Amino acid sequence: MHIISRAEWGARPPESRSTVPWSKRTVFMGHYSAASATQTPRQIQDYHLRVKGWSDIGYNFLINSISGVIYEGRGWTTLGAHCSGHNTEAIGVCIIGKDQPGRQDVSDAARRAFKWLYEQANDRTGKRLQLLGHRDRGNTSCPGDEIYAWLHAGLPIVGGTTPAPAKPPAAGKPAPGTPIAFPLPAGWYFGPASGPDYSVSGKYERYFKGRTDRTWMREWATQLDRRRWSIGKGKTWLGGAGNDGIYGPEYRALAEAFQRDQRLRVDGLIGVATWDAAFKNPVT
Ligand SMILES: [Zn+2]
Repeated sequence: MHIISRAEWGARPPESRSTVPWSKRTVFMGHYSAASATQTPRQIQDYHLRVKGWSDIGYNFLINSISGVIYEGRGWTTLGAHCSGHNTEAIGVCIIGKDQPGRQDVSDAARRAFKWLYEQANDRTGKRLQLLGHRDRGNTSCPGDEIYAWLHAGLPIVGGTTPAPAKPPAAGKPAPGTPIAFPLPAGWYFGPASGPDYSVSGKYERYFKGRTDRTWMREWATQLDRRRWSIGKGKTWLGGAGNDGIYGPEYRALAEAFQRDQRLRVDGLIGVATWDAAFKNPVT
């Protein structure tokens, strides 16, 4: 898995910091933000700096509750500010989002990411860190009942993820053109501008691997054109605005149709699987 670094998410520099040796770490503590899953680490950092008056974002790491994207907070060995009186021994990880009873707010992707971080921490300390929720050491409901129970059950991952079924090798022609690696960070996708930070729409001209998001989205659609999908102005797909690289209903419809064709999960968002299928799977 990949951790989005502070530089990648545009963190402000800490106002001060102190280091905790690995030997003093004994606890791996779960938190939640109890707010919208669309909150960005930068928004949380701003809140901790300006409102709480802390020297930096409080947590050591953060995980988006839906996508499972992991963000570096203070990192492994910096003293956090997430559980008063226990920041030396505890590495604090915040799940960005809510945990309402019976709602399954925290996705399997997020749980896998949390577990992966926990195992990373164990590898680094060379011992099993104790899994605790914030409420074990503070007067708070954090990290919510379901996550709290999950922590104390030892982080079981009970399937539930639905990776797309492997597509049997098709008898069609090999994909045309040169394969291009998915240009966005792990867990990100091309999707609506109204989505979270990791939904890249083309609207804001963000740069990834030296080119704008609009250019990349056009690249994906052009690849479908090479695969003989009828795209562009006046054609079957993207017929209104053309292949302008700005995600909207037309790109969504095209992505859904292609996902159906490729037996991928049909969500209309262009993530790594949908991208790679265009460049690698045989034309059927
Ligand atoms: Zn907490």
